[in-house]
Amino acid sequence: MKLITLAAVAAITFTTSAFGNESIIPVSQEIKDTTVNLRDKAIKDDSAYEILKSLTTEVGARHPGTPGEKAGIEWGVNKLKTLGFDKVYTEDVKMNGWLRGIETAEILLPSYQKMVITTLGRSKSTPKGGLEAEIVHFKSYADLEKATDGSLKGKIAFISKRMEKFKDGAGYGPAVIARSKGHELAAQKGAEALLIRSIGTDDHRNPHTGSTNVAMGYTAVPAIALSNPDADQLIRLIDYGHTPKIRLNVQTQDLGPIVTKNVIGEITGREFPDEVVVIGGHLDSWDLGTGAVDDGAGVAIAMATAALIKNNTKERPRRTIRVILWGAEELGLIGARAYAKARQEDGTIANHVIGSESDFGAGPIYGLQSSSNVSDNALHVIDTMASLMGTLGVSRRSGDTTGGPDMIPLSKLGVPALKLMQDGTDYFDLHHTPDDTFDKVNPEHMRQNVAAWTVFTYIAAEWPGSFK
Ligand code: ZN
Ligand code: ZN
Repeated sequence: MKLITLAAVAAITFTTSAFGNESIIPVSQEIKDTTVNLRDKAIKDDSAYEILKSLTTEVGARHPGTPGEKAGIEWGVNKLKTLGFDKVYTEDVKMNGWLRGIETAEILLPSYQKMVITTLGRSKSTPKGGLEAEIVHFKSYADLEKATDGSLKGKIAFISKRMEKFKDGAGYGPAVIARSKGHELAAQKGAEALLIRSIGTDDHRNPHTGSTNVAMGYTAVPAIALSNPDADQLIRLIDYGHTPKIRLNVQTQDLGPIVTKNVIGEITGREFPDEVVVIGGHLDSWDLGTGAVDDGAGVAIAMATAALIKNNTKERPRRTIRVILWGAEELGLIGARAYAKARQEDGTIANHVIGSESDFGAGPIYGLQSSSNVSDNALHVIDTMASLMGTLGVSRRSGDTTGGPDMIPLSKLGVPALKLMQDGTDYFDLHHTPDDTFDKVNPEHMRQNVAAWTVFTYIAAEWPGSFK
């Protein structure tokens, strides 16, 4: 329990909760009025869209271990400084780098055709010049599990499960296991390589890349994703009674130990500078597109939100707003894990009052969800946030949340989290493809996102009570 001012004490009402007599600190009218003012400014402000335009145009793709990543980190530092953040710094994160090289695939039999593929994260290379083998079709990861160990010697395991489209991305989980763990299973069954239908909901000839469950070194066998139309083509051939023979050639590189960075900007709290509200997005991206919806949008929304609050309030909010541009999310939340571990070790984890990450594209926000570790005494604050987001089309939602991928390590250490739920109906059309580019982003949706994030961030930083 922290010390509170006399004025705040006077405003406390006492209620009987399920846990006995506990104090409920209301959200003052002054906080609500300022929040409405900020929200209404944000809905007319194109800063986030402009920040995203700069990142995706002047930097482009930001894959760890590439010059693009380095340029992205420099861009992040400079942009936070230009926006007038009180403190801007970076933290080094050690990791192992991986790069894609050549990637080609062809159907050799029954007739020659080129296919569009992408190599999955940390895939090992095929032999130089490629490998040639017949494919064995499995409708799902579960079907491949049923195959006898060692039975796929000299073959390529092909998993064709298609990801289903949902507003909240619920189709991702059931499909993505083929990408993350399929390589191990294919190796166990004796296959030469793993070929999967891309984890994506579009019908364009774009493959979707993404990480495997490998943290260092290489996958057990080469792991490759086909575009949806190419996966359909293979299935039609199989339906005609053919056994397609294909050639896969992917050459990749293990970079060994490299250093990435979390880039951090702070608006220092006027009353509790050590207490932090964490918002952000991940600065790294896959290398195929320019990382606009994943996750330049999240980076831009968080930066614009904090800057807007700073620029439109007479004094700094009570608590520090810490914007974290997370490093190396795509290869396994590497920046986020290092950040949380360091805070656990130095004890400052206790100062993290609440947090959230924007990492689900640039679609409009429709719901506000809170994690189960938000205190009962603070739930009315989340309800107030949702009600002040009501004019934006946002409503309070039930369920639990970790607050976004890079919030998972902090969430596991007990930091309360919120999820500003975005409409992700089309997110997996673009996700991890060459089509993840700036032109796909709607400026109106970016404004709506910043308006909702402003409501959450300002109230979280200004309301004097505890979320824990
Ligand atoms: Zn992401
Ligand atoms: Zn991603």
